[in-house]
Amino acid sequence: MTGTIFDIKKYSVHDGPGIRTTVFLKGCPLKCVWCHNPEGQRMSAEMMFFSDRCTACGTCVSICPNQAIVLEAGSSDMDRVHEIHTLREKCTACGACVEECPSGARETVGRVVTSDELIQEIMKDVVFYDSSGGGVTFSGGEPLLQPDFLLALLRECKEREIHTAVDTCGFVNWETLSAIVPYADLILYDLKCMDAGMHFELTGRRNEVILRNLICLSKTHNNVTVRFPLIPGINDNEENIVSTGEFLPSLRREGKSLRIDVLPYHKTGIGKYERLGRVYSIRDIPRPTDEMVHAVQERLRKLGLKTGIGG
Ligand code: SF4
Ligand code: SF4
Repeated sequence: MTGTIFDIKKYSVHDGPGIRTTVFLKGCPLKCVWCHNPEGQRMSAEMMFFSDRCTACGTCVSICPNQAIVLEAGSSDMDRVHEIHTLREKCTACGACVEECPSGARETVGRVVTSDELIQEIMKDVVFYDSSGGGVTFSGGEPLLQPDFLLALLRECKEREIHTAVDTCGFVNWETLSAIVPYADLILYDLKCMDAGMHFELTGRRNEVILRNLICLSKTHNNVTVRFPLIPGINDNEENIVSTGEFLPSLRREGKSLRIDVLPYHKTGIGKYERLGRVYSIRDIPRPTDEMVHAVQERLRKLGLKTGIGG
């Protein structure tokens, strides 16, 4: 069994309890405007270009089999006489330029791995999981876009008694989501915005499937944590907070309400957009202040929800 991943983060403490290994699977059905992992959106491998490392030596221009790299005259206010441009529509992420660049200015994101390889990597840190109550988290992208691969990994972890968490946007069919229920100890479920039209504007998809799946999940899984990415001026308005606060308590199961964690917006992904040749459209949105984050958390708490920050 093979799948495509774009990163493995060791000693993570933000994606579930304890010390964790977070595995990032490639491919996502949404395109959130604030996404800090844009390299996880497409299913196939991509080439990242670090312009600050490039010396414009021109080696990659002659190597590229697709003529996807051009050397152009630099602008007058630049130190360099020439500058390099990648024509993204021609690039197949073949990796030839990555191999030959003497400055490490090019990297491939996305690689195919076997489930056995990945399990071996995960098992290297089992002592940390055991001592901290941690485990492994499958994130992305959207891990459920590779359902057979994810299921195989979850089953292997279950056999080895490793705690598992799945971080999902919920935009998958219920059959796919329900198949992981017996094998995932914790589901981290993103809830970005309650209004379907606004959800479409922000992510490229409406949210009916996401809300319906969360209702079904709350009836079949005992450990679901909802995650609310707080983006100032986008989804922090009173109407959205109140709609969220009214929707979640209705999902109570046997007296247990779902927990919601507020994830403050950050800008760590901006540089990746440039390296992938994409545009980051909400550059002017500020990070929320601590006061803002606590006010939203307090508002959700008053609406009867168990809440946390980060997580
Ligand atoms: S990854 Fe391959 S196709 Fe893309 S720019 Fe580099 S050499 Fe050309
Ligand atoms: S080989 Fe590397 S340093 Fe040379 S022009 Fe290409 S990206 Fe820049």
